[in-house]
Amino acid sequence: MECMHCKGRMVRGTAPFSLDRNGYHVAWDAIPAWVCSQCGEPFFESREVELIQKALTELDRESAALASSGSSAASKP
Ligand SMILES: [Zn+2]
Repeated sequence: MECMHCKGRMVRGTAPFSLDRNGYHVAWDAIPAWVCSQCGEPFFESREVELIQKALTELDRESAALASSGSSAASKP
């Protein structure tokens, strides 16, 4: 496998992954990935991407519940 950016050699390792969601931010320090030995560009395999998406689906659900828990508690008499 070669790097899409510099054609360098990709080696198995880990890379950080972070993104901004609606109302919160997620950051993983070390997701298993192929990392370019030349420029350091990470490439995530579909397995990891799927697991990230799965985690985000859960996070979306839980954070929506968390965000609405305050207002529903406040509206109680
Ligand atoms: Zn590269």
